[in-house]
Amino acid sequence: MSSVADAAIPVVPVLQSGKWHKHSSNAGGDVYNPSTGQVIARVPFCNTDETAGVVAAAAEALPAWGETPAVERARVMFRFRDLVAENFEELAALVTREHGKTLPESRAEVQRGMEMIEYACSVPTMLMGDTLSNIASSVDAETVRHPVGVCVGITPYNFPFMVPLWMFPVAIACGNTFVLKPSEKVPLSSVRLGELLTEAGLPPGVFNIVHGDRHCVEVLLTHPQVAAISFVGSTAIAKYIYETGTKNGKRVQAAGGAKNHLIIMPDADLDQSVKALSASAYGCAGQRCMAGSVAVAVGKVADPLVEGLCDHAGGFRVGPTDGNESVDMGPLIRREHLERVAGYLDIAATDGARVALDGRRDFDGDGFLLGPSVLDQVETGMRVAQEEIFGPVLSVIRVDDLESALEVGRNCPYGNGASIFTSSGYAARQFKHHFNAGMIGINVGVPAPMAWFPFTGWNQSFFGDLHIQGTESVHFYTRQKMTLTRWFASAEESHHDPVWKTK
Ligand code: NAD
Repeated sequence: MSSVADAAIPVVPVLQSGKWHKHSSNAGGDVYNPSTGQVIARVPFCNTDETAGVVAAAAEALPAWGETPAVERARVMFRFRDLVAENFEELAALVTREHGKTLPESRAEVQRGMEMIEYACSVPTMLMGDTLSNIASSVDAETVRHPVGVCVGITPYNFPFMVPLWMFPVAIACGNTFVLKPSEKVPLSSVRLGELLTEAGLPPGVFNIVHGDRHCVEVLLTHPQVAAISFVGSTAIAKYIYETGTKNGKRVQAAGGAKNHLIIMPDADLDQSVKALSASAYGCAGQRCMAGSVAVAVGKVADPLVEGLCDHAGGFRVGPTDGNESVDMGPLIRREHLERVAGYLDIAATDGARVALDGRRDFDGDGFLLGPSVLDQVETGMRVAQEEIFGPVLSVIRVDDLESALEVGRNCPYGNGASIFTSSGYAARQFKHHFNAGMIGINVGVPAPMAWFPFTGWNQSFFGDLHIQGTESVHFYTRQKMTLTRWFASAEESHHDPVWKTK
């Protein structure tokens, strides 16, 4: 940890009550351009008072925003969506700059994020409640949805633009105010989102940004004015956030890590499967919670599959992505992470697996580059089959039949996504129904739901009840009120005819 005042490098500002503040005397961290290995900004780690001050700003803005008509709140989202569309290319370039994914991958991320704003634009419809007249004699019942209060979002590094948008557009459109604590590794996209929200006309204090590490998070988890917490990150932290947040009386949704399986049946289209598996495992350099991590080859498909994967991924152009569109795969987020991922190749070899394609090479420059790797002859109990690697490494487990492939899933502690590649409807149906994961793909490599559907991780991949995205997110960011109404007739009113009496 260093002081943010160390060098003449830009300091990432905090957004509080509509104003940008630079906490340049704080402890903080470095933001890198992973393509070059250069530090491009410094991020402050806000202390207790600074973090509490940002929460207080959100609390102050809550009454007025919560009472703003839903259609007006939606209009801000419409303007925000248009600003994101107008600045699409600049935003994608920023994601590439601070994260390292390729420009096409960043464009896809901006697109997915924009769809969350589009979803939030329909909030007046989504907030509608239920009514039933005459639930008892002359008694009517209705439910309405109220905001929950100050909501907090704590986000990971791997989707700097999209994951914050999984949270705050719906939360804000529902009438809550929001404090975002972006990943300290990639805070720049969040700052740009804050600028665009201000330009869209969002009142000061409705959306705020605080920066920090575990201490800042702890303040947010225990602050009495925080009502709800959305978290996305690794499993150990997700579990801690869920346990600490709920213990402190907050509602919490916490999405964690993953180990996603790709099942290849003997009747699958091999060429299509190889392309889909490579895109799944090596897209964003494997740094996706929905990345395929374990290929389960059923029967005789194993040999040609491993050969096809090594040929295809071995031909990937790996290099710096910032300002460079002619690469298939970019760098990892940090050098330490690269070393951790590369270390799994040695662990696999020691455990008895075969390194069929080794991504370790001498690359030009100081970027955090590692090529794609394929591990063959992996067994279910090995560390590479059980632990989240979060890099461009695909393990291949060989099994005899579909039932054994389902068993591989049952032995995995996570439960985010899994896909099958087959031309058999029966095998696909068996897999869909029985595989131990919350998001299923059939001949689709990355079964990540779009904004309108919930992100339904299972097991150690999710802690909470209501998932991110879709209707569940509206339910997470609102609380219901039920009203029973009875009006007593005055002497003159009691002689009205019933509604169905015809003259
Ligand atoms: P991370 O858990 O290290 O960090 C996530 C957030 O938690 C960051 O904002 C970070 O500052 C904060 N944090 C880190 N350590 C903390 C601590 N000890 N106490 C309190 N807060 C802490 O995750 P990451 O490395 O940034 O992101 C990658 C992880 O996120 C992977 O495990 C990936 O699978 C997961 N992820 C999951 C999903 C999903 O939907 N399930 C989506 C994207 C990423």
